[in-house]
Amino acid sequence: MNRPKKQHTYPVSESKGYAASPSQSRSEYHTARWQRMRRVFLNQPDHIYCVRCKAQGRLTLAKVVDHIVPAEICGDFWDTSNWQPLCRRCNDVKAAEDRALIQQHKQR
Ligand SMILES: [Zn+2]
Repeated sequence: MNRPKKQHTYPVSESKGYAASPSQSRSEYHTARWQRMRRVFLNQPDHIYCVRCKAQGRLTLAKVVDHIVPAEICGDFWDTSNWQPLCRRCNDVKAAEDRALIQQHKQR
């Protein structure tokens, strides 16, 4: 049996990258303080690579500072122990998770 395998190709979805996710509409994200602190955070040796990619054995440069517990829920936006470095792709996934989490939180 040597049937040619059908190859399914999916269009590569390209993330625009610069579009702010809905969870990033908080006013804190538009402050100079945030811009400065996120840069300092991402420049620390432990924060150079995306933690989610690293957990899967991949090294991807982190571009985004994410709130582990969504800022809407954690209450303290500026608590850096609740921050983690993510790449854009992982941040998109996390943003969707956050939205679900926030939704659950509101229903409680
Ligand atoms: Zn990643």
